[in-house]
Amino acid sequence: MDEELERDRREMVLDLRRRGIKDERVLAAMLKVPRHLFIARPLWHLAYGDHPLPIAAGQTISQPYIVALMVEALAIQQDHRVLEIGTGSGYQTALLAELAAEVYTVERVAELLEGAERLLGELGYRNIHFRLGDGTQGWPEYAPYDRIIASGSVPQVPASLLAQLADPGRLVIPTGDRHLQELVLVQKLEGLIFREELVPCSFLPLIGKEGWEE
Ligand code: SAH
Repeated sequence: MDEELERDRREMVLDLRRRGIKDERVLAAMLKVPRHLFIARPLWHLAYGDHPLPIAAGQTISQPYIVALMVEALAIQQDHRVLEIGTGSGYQTALLAELAAEVYTVERVAELLEGAERLLGELGYRNIHFRLGDGTQGWPEYAPYDRIIASGSVPQVPASLLAQLADPGRLVIPTGDRHLQELVLVQKLEGLIFREELVPCSFLPLIGKEGWEE
């Protein structure tokens, strides 16, 4: 089983390369992090396919290509502090922890946060800080963040996240209506805000004060 899963993981990374993901650090992190451990064992044989998969609390782990695209767009450097909204399974959190100095992750569902914290601890990550709460309002105590990434959608870029973004800084967030969004890259540079739409996408909603109503 282990060998098969490793082969699947290498195949996933080759596929990401073929589809245009170029950042070697991102590809190396995706080759390293065992995605199957973040989903239920009966689904392990599907772990490295390019699709979202169910996790607890009616949520999903995002598909690898979109995760790669988002993380690549962030252009994370080794000394960065990164804020993640929507910990979910913790898979993307692990990738961020491979790439950045410190990761601050916020999740609204206790069951998911606890599961992710346990697994990421077992995997040996010591640079991740966990918080239960409404991530659409960020995590003001540790702001500013060099990079911010949201793995759920919002109607518009939350003012709190913009305020907590460092200058220079990059923020990636799916923005649009409840079912279909654009992946938006926001860059803060010398006091100015630049906004770019990357690709259409479909994420589950972020439920919160600066997100969607339940
Ligand atoms: N990156 C995750 C994707 C999880 S899906 C993974 O790879 O598994 C989106 C997550 O956002 C869900 O876990 C959901 O519970 C969480 N979420 C929804 N609203 C939120 C909010 N306001 N603050 C923080 N997390 C939220």
